[in-house]
Amino acid sequence: MMRVTIHDTCIACRRCYVYYPEVFIRDRNGYAHPKREEVADEWAEMALDAAETCPVGAIDCEE
Ligand code: SF4
Repeated sequence: MMRVTIHDTCIACRRCYVYYPEVFIRDRNGYAHPKREEVADEWAEMALDAAETCPVGAIDCEE
């Protein structure tokens, strides 16, 4: 399992939850949140890719 955290530096670019809706959701203002506190192993690569490609580095993944 992997723990995903999104910091308040998110700029609501939409990328993470558009590409990986299994892992991320948006709130009413378009800011991203983890869909679950712990990400199942099968989705860990998605979480890592989102963290690497977030334009402001707002996503942290911890194993
Ligand atoms: S990719 Fe980063 S900046 Fe864009 S919505 Fe997700 S957390 Fe926010």
